[in-house]
Formats: sequence, C-alpha cells, structure tokens
Amino acid sequence: MASENCIFCKIINNQLPSTQVFENENVLAFKDIHPTHETHYLFIPKKHYSRLDQIPDSEISVMADLYQAINSVAKKEGLDQAGFKTVIHVGEGGGQVVFHLHIHLISGRKLK
Ligand code: 5GP
Ligand code: ZN
Repeated sequence: MASENCIFCKIINNQLPSTQVFENENVLAFKDIHPTHETHYLFIPKKHYSRLDQIPDSEISVMADLYQAINSVAKKEGLDQAGFKTVIHVGEGGGQVVFHLHIHLISGRKLK
C-alpha cells in the first residue's frame, strides 16, 4: 500500500521520525516540520493517495475519516474555541509539494 520514496509513507511506517498528535486505524497526524503558525499539523490517510483528486469515488469516505480526526484534535486542544483553518494543496500549481494527500490544520499566531 505504501508508495516507494514517499516521505509520508515512510513516516507511517516509522522509517522517518515525526511528532505524532493523533492516530487511528486509517489516519495519522503529526506536526509540520516547518510550521507557519503556532499550531500546524498534517493529517494524512494511512493509505497512499497522491492528491485529493486521485481518491476513487468509492473511497471518498477517507475524507470523512480525516475531518473526523481534525475535529477530534481541535476539540482536545481547544482549537474550536480559538478558531482554526484547514488547507489542501492540489497539484504543483495548487502549492502541493508532498504528493501524499494531506490536510493542513492551522491555528494561532503566524510565525515569522
Ligand atoms: P504541501 O505544500 O505539499 O501541502 O505541504 C507539505 C508540508 O509538509 C509542508 O508544510 C512541509 O513543511 C511539510 N513537510 C515536508 N517534509 C516533512 C517531513 O519530513 N516531516 C514533517 N513533519 N513535515 C514535512
Ligand atoms: Zn505516501
């Protein structure tokens, strides 16, 4: 299921380190290595999809899994009070750099 040379698949398989903030059967979340804001986490499906528009219609429920995880972490960390945003970059022109589907969870002060 892992895609060769994908850094996020390597994080899932513990071949690369990360600071994890959430895990369940289908989803892993960890701190972004270059945070732009006080809180900056990445939520990824454990199954490799290169980008949002590569999810087969029959597997689109993975997006519900990801957003359920985001809501859970947001509640646990009080981000629902502070407010937060989620971002998905799709394709190089959309700002995507890592080609394993991920959702940015961003909250708090912008870092310099
Ligand atoms: P994209 O532009 O593809 O949506 O964002 C990729 C994000 O992944 C960037 O914010 C970048 O800082 C983060 N990132 C890239 N490599 C690693 C890594 O090895 N570990 C972690 N934790 N984050 C990474
Ligand atoms: Zn991957």
